[in-house]
Amino acid sequence: MISLERLCRKNIWDLAPYSSARNEYAGREARVFLDANENPYNQPFNRYPDPLQLELKAALAKVKGVPAENIFLGNGSDEAIDLPYRCFCNPGKDNVVAIEPTYGMYKVCADINDVEYRPVLLDDHYQFTADRLLAATDAHTKLIWLCTPNNPTGNCLKHEEVVKVIEQFEGLVIVDEAYSDFSSQPTFRSVLSKYPNLIVLNTMSKAWGCAAIRLGMAFASQEIIGLFNKVKYPYNVNLLTQQQAIEALKDPYEVDNWVKILLQERTRMVDAFEMLPICTKVYPTDANFFLAKMTDAPKIYNYLVDQGIIVRNRHRVQLCNNCLRITIGTKTENSELIAALRKF
Ligand SMILES: *Cc1c(COP(=O)(O)O)cnc(C)c1O
Repeated sequence: MISLERLCRKNIWDLAPYSSARNEYAGREARVFLDANENPYNQPFNRYPDPLQLELKAALAKVKGVPAENIFLGNGSDEAIDLPYRCFCNPGKDNVVAIEPTYGMYKVCADINDVEYRPVLLDDHYQFTADRLLAATDAHTKLIWLCTPNNPTGNCLKHEEVVKVIEQFEGLVIVDEAYSDFSSQPTFRSVLSKYPNLIVLNTMSKAWGCAAIRLGMAFASQEIIGLFNKVKYPYNVNLLTQQQAIEALKDPYEVDNWVKILLQERTRMVDAFEMLPICTKVYPTDANFFLAKMTDAPKIYNYLVDQGIIVRNRHRVQLCNNCLRITIGTKTENSELIAALRKF
């Protein structure tokens, strides 16, 4: 790996971050807080939240098996996707490489930050090879984006190829595991200590059922986490989100139960789709959704909208011609979708 200092933008490496009142006095034991120009009334909302979310990170460390010092928390994964660009990519000069198709935010953030985005098309099985991805890199490639299980295809990327990218690429490799709770594949956050150039993303938005609170996380070396903390807005995760996430983390067994039901439903849905005359193929999935190739995706999509049922039309996405992406819902919702499709 190239040294982090050389990978990092110089202005960010040299940055003196904003020092908030809560940074300068981080202890909680004092009695009187007259340092932050807060209103003394309207407890507990009058106080600025912990800028480093230490209580929440301690709870996450236990559930995720990653030390708190290796965790960054953001306003959704979206913040953890944007920060690597802002920290490492010089606008108009550096580039990033990603598989295609994949999650749309990697490209949107590249465009916003004026960073060249180099998509490398997956094969017919939605797989990639490390060699082809690495061939798209050059001396200005700072980041490689991998998403496994991948969105919108649903499948896991080949583990050995991901490892090969991490081991052979000199820059940073970001593995987005937003859907890993639905997969039996080993997670990359468990090998974090082995790879200083690895960043793993997780979110509370999918298996944890907390999309509304906006909490995403990055797992990486302490040095990378330190850079993210320097660049992020001082109070990027609000008090309500921190409190609600701590509550949710108290009951991981409930999440396990949801995942179990969703996986059973996924099997039922895939089987039902395979029987539909208007479905020509269901792609293998390791996530809480699956991609189905239909005879006429736009027409079927519009028909479902008329019935009040919304799925995701991926017809215009490369390699996803005539595909609909179906999220697994409750048993009732899933049955409604199948019933509607049988009547198409
Ligand atoms: C849904 C999703 C996320 C989650 O984004 P949040 O901002 O945390 O809600 C991240 N990555 C992928 C690939 C996703 O599909």
